[in-house]
Amino acid sequence: MEGEVRKAFRKAWVEIDLGSIYDNVTSYRRHISPNKALMAVVKGNAYGHGAVPVAKEALAAGAAWLAVALLEEALELRDAGIQAPILLFGYCPEEYIYLAQQNHITLSFNDKDSLRRAVPYIEKSLPQLQFHLKLDTGMRRLGLQNQEELHTFISFYRQALGQGTNIHWQGAYTHFATADELDQTYAKKQLQEFEQQLQIIQKEGLALEWIHAENSAAAIQFPEINTTNLVRLGISMYGLYPSQEMRPYFPFSLKPAFSFHTVLSQVKKVAQNSGISYGLAFTTEKDEWIGTLPVGYADGWKRSLSNQVSVLIQGKKLKQVGRICMDQCMVLLDQEYPLREPVTLIGRQGEQEISIDDLAQVLNTINYEIPCMISTRVPRRYYKYGQQLL
Ligand SMILES: *Cc1c(COP(=O)(O)O)cnc(C)c1O
Repeated sequence: MEGEVRKAFRKAWVEIDLGSIYDNVTSYRRHISPNKALMAVVKGNAYGHGAVPVAKEALAAGAAWLAVALLEEALELRDAGIQAPILLFGYCPEEYIYLAQQNHITLSFNDKDSLRRAVPYIEKSLPQLQFHLKLDTGMRRLGLQNQEELHTFISFYRQALGQGTNIHWQGAYTHFATADELDQTYAKKQLQEFEQQLQIIQKEGLALEWIHAENSAAAIQFPEINTTNLVRLGISMYGLYPSQEMRPYFPFSLKPAFSFHTVLSQVKKVAQNSGISYGLAFTTEKDEWIGTLPVGYADGWKRSLSNQVSVLIQGKKLKQVGRICMDQCMVLLDQEYPLREPVTLIGRQGEQEISIDDLAQVLNTINYEIPCMISTRVPRRYYKYGQQLL
């Protein structure tokens, strides 16, 4: 971390309010059944927020588990001294299973085949390999699809145990494809399928410790699910709503943790009828003050945002104009401002806000993608209730 702070000379940075993370986790903690634990989903560098600080904050707020997509991401958490259980959602190449064993990282298996490939790589001399089985009840991404495949999996697992494989089946889970939609028909079908599969596992006499299905959206939409004991909390931990549809139905309000800031790096008077930036895609109608920002598409400030977004300066919304370049972009100012005047690209100034949802709408995507898109070239700074931590 020290090294990172020393490297951050530039005047463009993301602020992460860990207090918001804490409060969002707490809101979920209070809302969901006390019989359920929380798993903080910190894949993708915690949706661009920074995996280690977010994971620590979520654990401090009462999360019991962490989840990531890649083995690299799990090891980053372990390297930072985090000891909480970690579930790997994604594929772990068999030749690295020893790293999962050494570091107590729980794997996901999708079917008999994924387990069969893994078995020869599981070391007897290392800590026991823990895994959760993924059940595909309708997402068609990962997991096994029907009862026959489940029976095949169960008998293969028993066979592997019989041969002394150093493995333990610890959990089962599924993932909803439409939990963020108000029409719950498909999700209900998935849940029914999941519960039937769970019954088979139970009838086979396998008592799994962890059963999970709900993400941020499903935890709100389906509070009545009583077959699970773990909620996988992602997007809403970061203070973002799973969908615009769901927003009015949320039983508590969320606090966005992510904001993006820079300063003016040049301010100049530009004559009437001047074209701005590559391709002259914006032309001044009169003499204008133009401000340059040291932020561009290499920072994830996408070129496709050109001429379509605003930024905040002194609490005012001002338009970004001209094509966004790799390292810079321009803003149409309403007056002269001093060099190094603070500029907010995402976040609040006074009454005004440029939200992650606003940007998602411009880019025709979902809010999930926006913090992920701001590249690691932009340093993340951590705050808690206004106090800078790092
Ligand atoms: C990313 C992910 C989640 C978190 O979903 P949110 O909608 O962000 O809450 C949960 N489960 C799985 C399997 C995921 O990949």
